[in-house]
Amino acid sequence: MKLSFAKKLTASYLFVVAVTLLFTGVFLSHRLKRSFLFHLEESLSAQTKLIAENVPADPKSLQGWAIAEGQKVGGRITVIDPSGVVLADSERTAEEVHRMDNHSTRPEVQEALVQGSGESMRHSATLNEDMLYFALPLNLKRGVIRFALPVTEVHQRVTAFQKDLLKVGAAAFLVAIGVAWMTMRKISEPLRDLLSSMGMETQDELGDLARTYSTMAARIEEKVRDLSRERTQLGAILSTLIESIVAIDHQGKLLFLNPAAKKLFGIQTEDLRGRPYLEVLRHSPLNEVLSETLSQRHTVQKEITLHAPEERVISVHALPVDYGQGQTGVLAALHDITELRKLETIRRDFAANVSHELKTPLTSIKGYVETLLDGAVEDTEHSRSFLTTIQEHTNNLSRLIDDILDLSAIESDRVVFRFESIIVKEVADKIMKALEPMAKAKKVSIKLNLPESLPKVLADREKLAQIIMNLIDNAIKFNKAGGRVTLSASPQENMLLIKVEDTGRGIPAEDLPRVFERFYRGDKSHSREVPGTGLGLAIVKHLVEAHQGTIEVRSVPEQGSSFQFTLRLS
Ligand code: ADP
Repeated sequence: MKLSFAKKLTASYLFVVAVTLLFTGVFLSHRLKRSFLFHLEESLSAQTKLIAENVPADPKSLQGWAIAEGQKVGGRITVIDPSGVVLADSERTAEEVHRMDNHSTRPEVQEALVQGSGESMRHSATLNEDMLYFALPLNLKRGVIRFALPVTEVHQRVTAFQKDLLKVGAAAFLVAIGVAWMTMRKISEPLRDLLSSMGMETQDELGDLARTYSTMAARIEEKVRDLSRERTQLGAILSTLIESIVAIDHQGKLLFLNPAAKKLFGIQTEDLRGRPYLEVLRHSPLNEVLSETLSQRHTVQKEITLHAPEERVISVHALPVDYGQGQTGVLAALHDITELRKLETIRRDFAANVSHELKTPLTSIKGYVETLLDGAVEDTEHSRSFLTTIQEHTNNLSRLIDDILDLSAIESDRVVFRFESIIVKEVADKIMKALEPMAKAKKVSIKLNLPESLPKVLADREKLAQIIMNLIDNAIKFNKAGGRVTLSASPQENMLLIKVEDTGRGIPAEDLPRVFERFYRGDKSHSREVPGTGLGLAIVKHLVEAHQGTIEVRSVPEQGSSFQFTLRLS
């Protein structure tokens, strides 16, 4: 069984008290004894001096005097001659005195003869008692007078004192036990509470505390490791996030800015922690969102436009976060929705454009049909021309719908491409035949510049025909009478570069980036004269890209245009 902490501490405390009492007792007894002895010595020497003055000169009367004087002063008186022979002793008879040892070797006697006084304490065999002796030389070198008192009284007094001391010590010890026990319980109580709060049943609080502490330390270490791992992971996640993340504290100082955010704001500085966001993010709409979230402490979601470093539409989602110590900062996620908005605009425009493109021919068809029904049908000459116009519009409509269907099929990846090794000239020749009548009507000549040595390409035959057909069709349509169209090709690295050049009216520089957009039809006044849907180049671009090629356009207004695209070699 383990001793409790309180018991252990009490025991050691009491041990200290006991040792202290013991030492004090021994020390005090010793001092007391020394003091008693000192007093005894004093009176012994004073009495000896007095006695020495009364020693009779006649040696015969010495023994009688010694006995009488000894009884008077209550001590032992001895007279010794200079050679050490005992002449008289108050505690002996005259016969006994004659038989006594020579006392010249007694220390007090020797000292008295040499130094003028001598003292010694020892056990007297004669009296069977501890005695204190004091000796003085007698006048005229007659010998030494020695006076002795028993030390027994000193012993008795010291013993009595020790007994008293023991009683007092025992009482003090009992009080100490009580006080110690109470104090220890007071100290160990909170410890017990602490341990039981840690789920420990306690026997020895300190031992348990040590064990619990080390278990806890291990647990904390593990937690810290977990936390730092999580922190690293979180940091990695935030860094790789496409979304921009901005965190500020309750005072509006930056806590965190992930790399995406830095890029968005065009910030190069490495460490921005602690800088006021108003200073770092100089975008008032964003700062308004952050300060609103910070002051109102509610989530704010807003779409804002950043103008620098480039124009971007950003959806900001800012929410108040308690980041510890009960302080609320703001965490904002910035989502770049520029592309999304652009696509939405295109889609909206597309719907509007489709309706418009369908509506125009339909209105026209409706008008002619009504006129015919109103009687024009009888007028054979007119009705024929009306029907021809209706047919044209119907053709336009069906071409438009074909293009829309084509485009949406390509865009939603519903078109299957069958790639094969193709000689571009074979495809071009067929297209030439098909477009010959149209070129003739427009008085445009078409020239093929496709040498036999050209490498084959990897393409879908039908789609490649559609690409070239569209480009040559445009090159004829937007040409002038007497103009030329040239189809040429040349290998470039691991691609084949195919060019369709014309000598037509060209495209204004500002329109160049838009020609591949859906429904883009250039200058409206011109476009009306030329049939078309505005979808041709959009389809072409999609098809080229599906072949992993690229397409670009160069043009000089009034001189001509050049469309060039690449295809992989087979
Ligand atoms: P469409 O030909 O049906 O109008 P496209 O998408 O093929 O539609 O062309 C879009 C626009 O680009 C045309 O309306 C025209 O303004 C311009 N364009 C295309 N090709 C040429 C060209 N070779 N020369 C001049 N303008 C062109």
